[in-house]
Amino acid sequence: MYAEILIEYPSKKIDKYFTYKVPFNMQEYLQIGMKVKVPFNSKVVYGFVINITNNFNSEYELKEIDSIVDKELILNKELIKLGHYIKEKTLCPLISAYQAMLPSSLKIKEINTNYNYYKTYLLLDKNEYIINEYILNNKRGKKQNELLQDILNEKKVLKNRYNYSLVKSLINKGLIKEVKEQEYRINKSKDRGIVKYELNEEQKYAYEVIKNTNKFETFLLEGVTGSGKTEVYLNLIENVINNGKTAILLLPEISLTMQVVNRFYAWFGSSVAIFHSQLSNGEKYDEYLKILRGEVSVVIGTRSAIFMPLQNLGIVIIDEEHSDTYKQESTPRYNAIDVAKFRCNYHNVPLVLGSATPLLETRSRAIKGVYKHLFLRKRAGLSNLPQVKIVDMQKEREKGNFIFSEELIKNIKEKLEKKEQMIILLNRRGFSTIITCSYCGYTYKCPNCDITLTYHKSTNNLRCHYCGYTTKKSDMCPNCWHDGLNYLGLGTEKVEMELKKLFPKMRIIRMDQDTTTKKGSHEKIINDFKNYQYDCLLGTQMISKGLDFPKVSLVGIINADSTLNIPDFRSNERTFSLLYQASGRAGRSDILGSVIIQTFNPDNTVLKCVENNNFNYFYNYEMNIRKILKYPPYYYLIGIKVIDKDYKKALESANKICTILKDKLDKTSIVLGPSTHSLFKANNMYRFSIVIKYRFDNKIMEVLKYIDEMYLYDNTTKLEIDIDPVHI
Ligand code: ADP
Ligand code: ZN
Repeated sequence: MYAEILIEYPSKKIDKYFTYKVPFNMQEYLQIGMKVKVPFNSKVVYGFVINITNNFNSEYELKEIDSIVDKELILNKELIKLGHYIKEKTLCPLISAYQAMLPSSLKIKEINTNYNYYKTYLLLDKNEYIINEYILNNKRGKKQNELLQDILNEKKVLKNRYNYSLVKSLINKGLIKEVKEQEYRINKSKDRGIVKYELNEEQKYAYEVIKNTNKFETFLLEGVTGSGKTEVYLNLIENVINNGKTAILLLPEISLTMQVVNRFYAWFGSSVAIFHSQLSNGEKYDEYLKILRGEVSVVIGTRSAIFMPLQNLGIVIIDEEHSDTYKQESTPRYNAIDVAKFRCNYHNVPLVLGSATPLLETRSRAIKGVYKHLFLRKRAGLSNLPQVKIVDMQKEREKGNFIFSEELIKNIKEKLEKKEQMIILLNRRGFSTIITCSYCGYTYKCPNCDITLTYHKSTNNLRCHYCGYTTKKSDMCPNCWHDGLNYLGLGTEKVEMELKKLFPKMRIIRMDQDTTTKKGSHEKIINDFKNYQYDCLLGTQMISKGLDFPKVSLVGIINADSTLNIPDFRSNERTFSLLYQASGRAGRSDILGSVIIQTFNPDNTVLKCVENNNFNYFYNYEMNIRKILKYPPYYYLIGIKVIDKDYKKALESANKICTILKDKLDKTSIVLGPSTHSLFKANNMYRFSIVIKYRFDNKIMEVLKYIDEMYLYDNTTKLEIDIDPVHI
């Protein structure tokens, strides 16, 4: 018996199978998908069994497999096939695809740690009759009797509840014994008193349509914020479980959506496993075991949860499908939505993509009928959509208001008096290399690509990192002729200080990268805010998603422009989605909510669409830009980074690649660059980027593979190919 092994070393240089002999005593157990140890180049390394065969002809003596690492841990047939798909789709080494599927506690470095978690229990070691006799005669052993009585009542008790010598004396008498049992670190039970809403008409329609689908089909569930998408998910998953099948629900970031997760625990209790990066290694290990052993029916998690080895999958639901977090930005550069399609296709079951602001690519597919389009147009329950007001910060500056507008201050005061809550959002700082005018909000844009130019200090000029367009930075703002050109930037701490100056009594909690490094800190902030220990939640875009606070009646957005200015063709889309979702936080119960958006560009179409709550208008406007400038969904994109520590070599390689691409690709494909990457020099490495835009090009993968292989054995130049990138 022979086995083909994929060595666990993520390099394309050994991205192939090596054949080993299976020792006689292992033949009975060895299965495809198992992790094994094998001798390789005078070392012992880890690998996966990809194939087992009986006949193999070799001229030389083959080595034997050393041992099996874990009999429980097996990549099943589906996942093995999925690995090949990911390799083809993202051009990664096959082993990287498999590594992405397993929790880190099961990867090489840590495999020696035993993550199994045990608790010790005490049981009776004699029959009840003897124990009762003992208790009757043991008049002075009150503590002993209590312990024995506890076991009589509860059958088994946790050892650490009792005094050590007490336990020991009873064990020595042969009356009780201890047993170790494996336990899971996370253990939730159902909430029997849970409120299950009766679905409203739109919810019911969406639920029925999806429920009655018994083949692979992708649905876009487009529902305004607060329309009750979660309720639809819960019902769909309950239905799947009742049919003896399993479900995966992906969320963008679990820590921010524990409210949602807790709702699933309440419905399904210990049938739920969760999987995300904030779990400890032990917790991940346990959750993974539950799944492998078939003890759970639902997995809720972030991106990598899409790989969980559930059998008999019945549905996959991806909430907030527009989120960037579904794309992995390092090898393997997969998108969880593509993986979900593979799995749903494999199991022949529906895939649900949910969002209030779906990606343009997704929505256009739904409009074309590639996906089935379902809507939730009304908010569930009582609440109405909030009133949105745009404030012109240029006028405010003239009045001397730099951070907060009059309108926002007035509103904050009002809400404080009414004892309602508010959320103040500081848009992410964006690139520090963006120059903006502090008088009029002007930023430089590329005339070819309509994206913000980045500033290069060394040459004092501004460049487009897509096409390489360059222009000089002037001293005066070319728009208002003031001397106001500055780097972009305003921090949450500064805003907090200023708020405290204006409203000394206001209770403010800040949520940003600094205040959320500790495990569980997100949840604590959210709970404290929900319990009205604070009046104001101040934070970065982290706070815009998925939160449901009934007492929040005001959302203030301090600097709406900064995401608009990020040099990426998706920045309009991201800004719209961020502001629209953030607005959705206001007025989630019976209080009418208001939203105030501060900007230097009050006439900006994206902001107008947020003001009018008009996703349709935004969609058409942005689709038109995408069409003119040849961006997705009209064209597909590929980003190539060329990295070298030698500037000249990096540029040479990048030029050479561009020439090859232009020569070999279809004439309808567009090759842009090389241009300096936005992280032009980092860690002493120079980066150039090349962007390919294409529509139909059946040679493209072949050409990319060719280029990739050209640099496989190059000692200095590294390539990073990103297919369907979310950032370029
Ligand atoms: P979304 O995820 O679409 O933004 P949620 O699922 O958070 O919306 O639901 C918003 C609110 O509406 C929640 O508080 C939820 O409990 C409530 N809700 C959902 N469905 C119903 C319903 N059918 N009837 C009454 N309230 C509902
Ligand atoms: Zn450009």
